[in-house]
Amino acid sequence: MEDYPRDLAEFEARFSTEAACREYLLRLRWPDGFCCPRCGGRKTWPLRGVLLQCSSCGYQSSVTAGTIFQDTRKPLTVWFRAMWWVTSQKNGASALGLQRVLGLGSYKTAWTWLHKLRRAMVRPGRDRLSGKVEVDETYWGSEERGVRGRQTETKTLIVVAAQQDGEGIGRIRMRRIPDASAKSLMPFVEEAIEPGSVVHTDGWLGYVPLEGKGYRHRVTFLRGKKQSPSELMPRVHVWCRC
Ligand SMILES: [Zn+2]
Repeated sequence: MEDYPRDLAEFEARFSTEAACREYLLRLRWPDGFCCPRCGGRKTWPLRGVLLQCSSCGYQSSVTAGTIFQDTRKPLTVWFRAMWWVTSQKNGASALGLQRVLGLGSYKTAWTWLHKLRRAMVRPGRDRLSGKVEVDETYWGSEERGVRGRQTETKTLIVVAAQQDGEGIGRIRMRRIPDASAKSLMPFVEEAIEPGSVVHTDGWLGYVPLEGKGYRHRVTFLRGKKQSPSELMPRVHVWCRC
């Protein structure tokens, strides 16, 4: 991000209010202006808190969804100050230092914040897939007799995300997951794919929370379709040879 204050004075002038911090997050997520994840509308009602409401369809998105500020009860101004301080410590930031600078009540909170920030700042959004991304789960291993769909005992379940690159496959991310529940799928999606991307899945319930996490969710229902999964989501399936 080029558009970032150069010194403390500039930082304090710029990010002194919640509204200024929200505006900054809004422009990070939608550099070309808001685009509704549901209807593609470009207009919103004025920002209320972190929530944005599409003025065409009423869909609500949040500027903090998918960021480390999601669900925080602390003001964004405090988080922004924490980021500024942590990134400007030449000899590394300590939890004790952060606690003092922010006036946080507990050392444990400061420690948690520092670790959250460190994880997020190892190059923010490092190498996450973006644009149009197909996501599906697949089994690694041989065919299991008498087992259909997502029920399996012995095979390894893998979730795969494949970025669309014209007609071909762009970058790929994959992970072994214990099951196909939303609880297993969502952490993978959030680490592998930029919020705001179009995520294409089948109609499996495990993908229902995607919109709430700031993604545009495109669903193709497989049941009753004449096409096979590999025709509907060619990139994931070509890559997995399934
Ligand atoms: Zn809309």
